Amino acid sequence: MATIAFIGLGNMGGPMAVNLAKAGHTVNAFDLSEQALKQAAEHGCQIADSAQAAVSGADVVISMLPASKHVESLYVSGDQPLFDRVNKTALVIDCSTIDAETARRVAAAGAEKGVGFIDAPVSGGVGGAQAGTLTFIVGGSAAQFQQAQPILEAMGKNIFHAGDHGAGQVAKVCNNMLLGILMAGTCEALNMGVKNGLDPKVLSDIMKQSSGNNWALQVYNPVPGVMEGVPASRDYQGGFQVDLMFKDLGLAMEVSQQSASATPMGSAARALFNLHKSAGNGGLDFSSLIKLYQDAE
Ligand code: NAD
Repeated sequence: MATIAFIGLGNMGGPMAVNLAKAGHTVNAFDLSEQALKQAAEHGCQIADSAQAAVSGADVVISMLPASKHVESLYVSGDQPLFDRVNKTALVIDCSTIDAETARRVAAAGAEKGVGFIDAPVSGGVGGAQAGTLTFIVGGSAAQFQQAQPILEAMGKNIFHAGDHGAGQVAKVCNNMLLGILMAGTCEALNMGVKNGLDPKVLSDIMKQSSGNNWALQVYNPVPGVMEGVPASRDYQGGFQVDLMFKDLGLAMEVSQQSASATPMGSAARALFNLHKSAGNGGLDFSSLIKLYQDAE
């Protein structure tokens, strides 16, 4: 069993750290939020006073932070960069969704200090994080992938090696661009059905058995009351914030621009989430996009 430093115990990182502790690893956890630390301590993690203290003596370091700037500052450009503190034999696994360019730059900065760093963004949402069934999409060398695999298996079901550094992030934004498009389309179809007198549960059941079936309909229905245990049924609290989906669609637009790939649907989804965010809904789960359609009437 390994000694693991876990930095970032939010909606995703909190349950991921708990699953590592449940699997028998020693988890030294750190977050800026007292509440997040308290919850991790209640579920078997050791609490560290700082990120620097958490990584002391760790075989593996995992981070699950909001965005690129948090990751770069933690490891490279902040006051006390972790690359100066981490064991040279340790592997750093960043599971945050960030831009591929930053992931490559941070990996190169780690390599200069003799520290291995891989990108390993996840898919599967808070439900997947809690159940330990996440999909990990890894960018790094084959040897680093092998080293990470047994650790990631305590938190996930499907572990993919997408390619070299940054490839995990490119694959992840392709997936999340598609997710944003699918959620927008699902909200649009459900709202139109309801406006025409259909029961959203009946319409959802019909589409799930028809050619419009998709992940949002299967496990993340955006209409309150249709499905238990999803953010729509708890006032869109928890889950995957509109702010984060908007960030991911922005990352997708960067990849699209850099590679001259046409992404008109991704661009439309980004505009919709932008409108919804601008109306003050950034902190709600992304399935709350359906309110944009409902409020438009
Ligand atoms: P979150 O906002 O719930 O959690 C982020 C945590 O990081 C917070 O608890 C915050 O206090 C902490 N933090 C920020 N800066 C820190 C620092 N310097 N040191 C220590 N802790 C710090 O976000 P989340 O929903 O858990 O998402 C985390 C990442 O996972 C994001 O990149 C997101 O895009 C990605 N993601 C989220 C989901 C989802 O469904 N929520 C799914 C897949 C991927």
